[in-house]
Amino acid sequence: MGERSELLRQYLTQQIELGGAEVVMPAAGSQVAASEAAGDKPARLELVSTASAKWRENAPPIPGAGLTVVTEVPAILGDPLGDAGSLDAVAELIAGCRKCALCTTRTRTVPGEGDPGARLFLVGEGPGATEDQTGRPFVGQAGQLLDKILEAIECPRPTTYIANIVKCRPPQNRKPLPDEMAACLPYLHRQIALVRPKVLIALGSTAAEGMLGVKKSLGELRGKVHRWNGIPLVVTYHPAALLRNPNWKKPTWDDVRIARQLLDS
Ligand code: URA
Ligand code: SF4
Repeated sequence: MGERSELLRQYLTQQIELGGAEVVMPAAGSQVAASEAAGDKPARLELVSTASAKWRENAPPIPGAGLTVVTEVPAILGDPLGDAGSLDAVAELIAGCRKCALCTTRTRTVPGEGDPGARLFLVGEGPGATEDQTGRPFVGQAGQLLDKILEAIECPRPTTYIANIVKCRPPQNRKPLPDEMAACLPYLHRQIALVRPKVLIALGSTAAEGMLGVKKSLGELRGKVHRWNGIPLVVTYHPAALLRNPNWKKPTWDDVRIARQLLDS
C-alpha cells in the first residue's frame, strides 16, 4: 500500500510538471497515505474521459480476431502459487523462486507492480539492468517511454498493472530461453487471474511468444485482437524497440489506441 501511494504521488507530481491530462483525485496525496494506513480501500485515480479525447482522432477501428489461447495451469493440491490469494503473496513466492537458472544471476526479483484492480495489464519481456537493481518493472529509458504512451491513451501507469514474462533479469539482457519462460509463466498466470484485467497488451515479440505460445514476427501478430484465456490481447512493439526504430511509433500508437477502445467496449 505504501508503495502504491508513492506511485500515485509520483504520478501526480509528473502531471503537474508535464501539465498533462486532467485527472480527478478523490483525495490529496497525504490523505491517500492516511486512509490507506487506516486500512481503507486504496484511493483510485479517476480519469475524465471525454468524447473528444486526443487519442480518438483517426484511431483505427478495432480489428478482427486473431489467435485464441487457453492455457491449462495444473491445479496441484497444496500448490503454494495456486493458494496465493494476493499479488503480494505471489511476489513473495517469486522472491524465493529458484525454478530456473536466472535465479543465480539476478540481483533482485521483479515481480511487477500497479493497481491490483487494473483494467489494463501490460506484459513485457524481462527485467533489464535498472529493473534488476530496483526490483521494479520498466523503470529505465524504455519505461519512461511506456509511461508517456500510457498517458497519451489516458491510462496513466498507476491505473495499470505491469509485469514481465520472466521475473529475473537474463544476463546481458539476452532474450529469455523457452525453458525459463515456461518455468516463470505460472506466476504471470496467477497475477492475471488475481487482477482480472479487461485488456492485455503484450509488449514485443518475446512477450507475445510467451503468452500466445507461437513464434511469429511482430508484424504478423499485431493488428488483431487475440484472446488469452478469454481476455482480449493486443500485441505491439516493445518500447525499447521504439527507441531504436522510431518508424514503429506510428503502428504502436495505433495498437495502443485499439487496446484503449477495447477498454471502453
Ligand atoms: N523493463 C522491463 O521490466 N521489462 C522489459 O521488457 C524491458 C524493460
Ligand atoms: Fe523463478 Fe521466474 Fe526467476 Fe526463473 S525467472 S528463477 S522461474 S522467478
